[in-house]
Amino acid sequence: NPKYLKKSAKRLAKLQKDLSRKQKGSNNRKKAKIKVAKLHEKISNQRKDMLHKVSTQLINENQVIVIEDLKVRNMVKNHKLAKSIADVSWSEFRRMLEYKAKWYSRKIIVAPSNYASSQLCSDCGNQSSQTKDLSCRTYICPVCGMIMDRNINASKNLLKLAI
Ligand SMILES: [Zn+2]
Repeated sequence: NPKYLKKSAKRLAKLQKDLSRKQKGSNNRKKAKIKVAKLHEKISNQRKDMLHKVSTQLINENQVIVIEDLKVRNMVKNHKLAKSIADVSWSEFRRMLEYKAKWYSRKIIVAPSNYASSQLCSDCGNQSSQTKDLSCRTYICPVCGMIMDRNINASKNLLKLAI
């Protein structure tokens, strides 16, 4: 996720500040409004372009793709996560993966939303709640001692589920 919004956020904040300082109904206000709208459009296009590239690459390189049924709506309620999730556009990405999978006869498997992909040890299957805390980036299994990046561990569990 290149976080286009983040990069453009400063510029957007400046343009919005400029806009708020213009007198209502003035020509300068109209111009400032157009500038804000244009930047929003640019960010949206950059994001779409990136999502298209990544989804096409994934579809080209894989016969089967396993995704999690993330409850985006619930996650967006969490303010810390909201911005970065909106930035990545999960729902749009999933939509692209699904229709491209149809075009190229690929299979998309959706893991059930109650599947604890990040809490299971991909080696011994033990379940541990340590990764419920999103700041915990490494899975350390208290049973078999396996140590792995949380996302790689979760991916291995999703692969097992798919197989
Ligand atoms: Zn283990």
